[in-house]
Amino acid sequence: MTGGTGGLLLVHAHPDDESITTGGTIAHYRRRGVPVTVLTCTLGEEGEVIGDEWALLAAQHADQLGGYRILELTHALAALNAGPPRFLGGAGRWRDSGMAGTPAAHKPRVFVRSGDEAVRALTDAVLELRPRVVVGYDPNGGYGHPDHIRAHEITTAAVQVAAGEGWDTPKYYWTVTDADMLRLHTAALARRTAAGLPGALPPGWRLPAEGELASVPSDAVTTTIDVSDVLTAKRAALRAHATQVTVAPSGREFALSNKVAQPVLPEEHFILVRGRRGPLGPDGREHDLFAGLG
Ligand SMILES: [Zn+2]
Repeated sequence: MTGGTGGLLLVHAHPDDESITTGGTIAHYRRRGVPVTVLTCTLGEEGEVIGDEWALLAAQHADQLGGYRILELTHALAALNAGPPRFLGGAGRWRDSGMAGTPAAHKPRVFVRSGDEAVRALTDAVLELRPRVVVGYDPNGGYGHPDHIRAHEITTAAVQVAAGEGWDTPKYYWTVTDADMLRLHTAALARRTAAGLPGALPPGWRLPAEGELASVPSDAVTTTIDVSDVLTAKRAALRAHATQVTVAPSGREFALSNKVAQPVLPEEHFILVRGRRGPLGPDGREHDLFAGLG
């Protein structure tokens, strides 16, 4: 067990989100002995499956993908030294609601209709774990997936409710991507590809269009975590989600089933939305989620 009180609690919508958005941060704090709990809200049953081997597990066939993704999450968290998986309300309580506008949203137990029960379950987890730092999503859930928006709603509500019931979380952050960093990385990848240099775009992949990947203006970011020394663990965690994620041979990018290249950045970005900023670096940002907490 790597859980425990006083540490870092990350609330994620589906298995793979923890590695994609915060994998480096998880490994970074585990390396420093900080208790880390990843609380995942759904099993990701509606995910699109990459490759043929596991394709028939998908929701429209055997509908066994959710169970399989527990295995992938288990391996990913092991790579980050942060297992075992923990699911909001217990594994299988809430179902992946699917992308906006799909029939998946009308299936039983969908997370978008989790109501007060999900807020209660998360509040209870906060009261149990007494985290010094909670990480969730921004109001758009990063990229607008209904489950990510719902995860934002319940995390914001639970931090608030728990404050009135005995645990006032000192710092609450949203995980985001700095638009300038994303643009720099994408331009470098485009240059390598055009010049035929090592680290070019893998065959069949494409570059993201401007604004296609979720990001926030650089000046909105309050906190940068340097994860350059744990990128091996972050890549291993991404590879563990093989039904959902492919890592480029160079290790510099990954792609979902849409084959849009996304960077495996050497830093992860956050916006502090509750609590006081700790000491800032020369760039005007915090470099530790626990900064100022002593
Ligand atoms: Zn997700």
